[in-house]
Amino acid sequence: MNYQGEKIISSDIDERIRQLLAQYDTPQACAAELLCDRHPDDTVAFTVVESDLSTTDLTYGDLRRKSAQFAAALAELGIEPGDRVATLMSKSAQLVVVLLGIWRRGAVHVPLFTAFAPPAIGFRLESSDAKIVVSDANQLDKLQPGEDIPADAPWLVIAADSTENPAQLRLDDLLAGYTPDDPRGNAVAVGGRGLLVQLFTSGTTGTPKAVPVPVRALASFHAYLEFGLDARPDDVFWNAADPGWAYGLYYAILAPLASGTRSILLHAGFSAPLTWQIIERLGVTNFAAAPTVYRSLRADPTPVPAGISLRRASSAGEPLTPDVVGWSKHALGVEVHDHYGQTEHGMFISNAWHDALATDVPAGSMGKPLPGFVCAVLADDTDEFAAAGTMGRVVVDTVNSPLLWFPGYIDAPEKTAQRYTEDGRWYLTGDAGMVDADGNYFFSARDDDVIIMAGYRIGPFDVESVLVLHDDVIEAAVVGLPDELRGEVLEAFVVLRHGVAGGDELEADLQTLVKRKFAAHAYPRRVHFVQSLPKTPSGKVQRFLLRKQ
Ligand code: ATP
Ligand code: MG
Repeated sequence: MNYQGEKIISSDIDERIRQLLAQYDTPQACAAELLCDRHPDDTVAFTVVESDLSTTDLTYGDLRRKSAQFAAALAELGIEPGDRVATLMSKSAQLVVVLLGIWRRGAVHVPLFTAFAPPAIGFRLESSDAKIVVSDANQLDKLQPGEDIPADAPWLVIAADSTENPAQLRLDDLLAGYTPDDPRGNAVAVGGRGLLVQLFTSGTTGTPKAVPVPVRALASFHAYLEFGLDARPDDVFWNAADPGWAYGLYYAILAPLASGTRSILLHAGFSAPLTWQIIERLGVTNFAAAPTVYRSLRADPTPVPAGISLRRASSAGEPLTPDVVGWSKHALGVEVHDHYGQTEHGMFISNAWHDALATDVPAGSMGKPLPGFVCAVLADDTDEFAAAGTMGRVVVDTVNSPLLWFPGYIDAPEKTAQRYTEDGRWYLTGDAGMVDADGNYFFSARDDDVIIMAGYRIGPFDVESVLVLHDDVIEAAVVGLPDELRGEVLEAFVVLRHGVAGGDELEADLQTLVKRKFAAHAYPRRVHFVQSLPKTPSGKVQRFLLRKQ
């Protein structure tokens, strides 16, 4: 059932979903067992790559032993199952050890993105009631008492690597005090509904919301890796997203561990030349990243290496603009596919790569519901289905979506209630979009960002997609501003290519481009040429801040 007619889930796939639920959604489910111990000791979990391209393989045996030591240390430090333990760490072997140690103890991981400043860190540590934070040494400054970090902070800080401060507790020293067979490090089973992670949403539309991720969510993460990304045992898989966010934590760490898919972990910051080198030298065949990564690869002057052999390329987290899709075909040798999801559920609509699901991708579509999810578009003012091709609210069917796992935000019943229709039947994503007669979904905007002008509903993404087609435009954001006559009118904020100056002529060109390629009425009445757009630390455009300007 997909509410556009045909049943898209074949019986084999249905069976596979049932198998996955049987593994992860049981009262006995044990995260350390599912993510580590059930895989053979000598199987490689991650190949950690340094900026000089040297690599180290991390096996499940290494991870089992070291995470047992860390779990024993956590137990000794008074951490009980259900307690929150945060990490302020970049991608590294230590990060995976720490995470598996936390889960082995039955504790709950709170990820902190390393690009966060102290206010964002303090907010998450306090509101999650974190007992411990493990931090890279080069991040420790952000945990010093100050405006955002209380002097009597209740959390213990552990440095993940060496520091100059002899008084600082260090991970290595801590691990050295325990052996891998210490009974205090035994895996604790919290069950499928027990928590694995407490993760905050990106804060694109306001204050971030705390999402509790249960162990059973692994069934949907594993399913996306198989069906959405089509990661196969012989793939060299690399999801470059940062595990401080849902897409990186769920699909660069959790899903690969759950499924035993070997993958690459880059222990260095992003740069386009380095990304190209890794794809080429390590023979990456299956790549996933946010649209900004593809945009940076495209903008970088480095010539595309001749020897790349990508089989799959996927993008998630933000709308994928057509300029990137067009470029990818010749540059990457494979068209980037758009995938859609949220912190609250992981990925659930995608241009899936699995052979049984792959279809021609209509331009601009983010795909079809993944197996295990049934979605629909509801009209704005009623809870009836919107007609095919008409904009409405993108929703998930809570009754017919066995992989749906969102249990509601932590300590925020009102925000949770806003996510559902009154009868509880539909989960409201908060996004506006449409579905065509073939069941392909199209993203229009965040509900808050939809522009209503003289009765027309306009999604800013449609207009932005045209603006970025102009050679001089790097990025664009379109918002609706109040207008007495028309209700709202469109204004565009545009970042230009380095060295290009904006002016009346370019403004007129851009307006004409929108009239020609999108719609005569939906052109931006004003174009503001700006140096940059306001973004979340993960790089999402915060249109609500532009509206306030
Ligand atoms: P907050 O909920 O705090 O405002 P956020 O919604 O950005 O932040 P995330 O859960 O990280 O937090 O992001 C999910 C949202 O990102 C989706 O609801 C959607 O608006 C957007 N998104 C994700 N993938 C895509 C995609 N492929 N195309 C368009 N939008 C996408
Ligand atoms: Mg959201």
